[in-house]
Amino acid sequence: MSKTVHLVGAGPGDIELMTVKSLRLIKEADVIIFDRLANPLILKEAPQGCEFIDVGKTDGQHPVKQPEINEIIYQSSLKYENVVRLKGGDPFVFGRGGEEALYLKERNVKFDIVPGITSAISVPAYAGIPVTQRGVVSSFRVITGHEAPGKAVSQIDWNSFNTDETLVFLMGLHNLGRISKNLMEAGKDKNYPVAVISAGTTATQKVVVGTLENIEEKAKSLPTPALIVVGKVVNLRDELKWFD
Ligand code: SAH
Repeated sequence: MSKTVHLVGAGPGDIELMTVKSLRLIKEADVIIFDRLANPLILKEAPQGCEFIDVGKTDGQHPVKQPEINEIIYQSSLKYENVVRLKGGDPFVFGRGGEEALYLKERNVKFDIVPGITSAISVPAYAGIPVTQRGVVSSFRVITGHEAPGKAVSQIDWNSFNTDETLVFLMGLHNLGRISKNLMEAGKDKNYPVAVISAGTTATQKVVVGTLENIEEKAKSLPTPALIVVGKVVNLRDELKWFD
């Protein structure tokens, strides 16, 4: 058996949305380095004697900084055969999995990537919102909502969002007002539909629906993790909601 670091996506929350492969690797793990977003019930699947390292991050705050996490993963690979780096959703969708893989590559550590079901698609689905819908919208974008406020040069081209494309913002709850304002300034109607979904796919899922103009007020008390969906597909929720 050769030493490998597995960068594993744990899915969005509902434990049954894990992949068969991720579950197998967890059952074989010598050490699991996990984030707050990964459902803690998953750890019950680990074998006896498995070491757990909590590098839990909440959005906006990083109790353990990324360079330190990289080093923890690397050090674990020197100590153990089967290292599982477990991340919420998919490791390559705003999961910093790419950075961790590069760090390992530079140190000649073998790694593999186990994609997970990203919250960007599954959380809207559990709220009855398809990210694409024939005759309504044929593309969607996933965007960070966490870009530092007041950044001199935004990497986000807000003017490019004056489309009917479905927009999914991750890590954006605290910036909801700013995001809505930017979209209206880019030309979107103030009555454009928006949904905010908190703790999606879990027993505590909450969904708030509003418009660009009123969503900040309506969603302000929702707990994290939460994502924002902007698009006409939000209206389909009336017919398609099934989980809550
Ligand atoms: N790699 C993850 C995303 C990491 S960024 C993935 O593919 O899903 C973290 C952000 O994901 C959170 O700030 C939130 O916007 C979103 N998120 C993750 N899980 C969520 C959930 N269960 N419900 C709502 N949003 C979630």
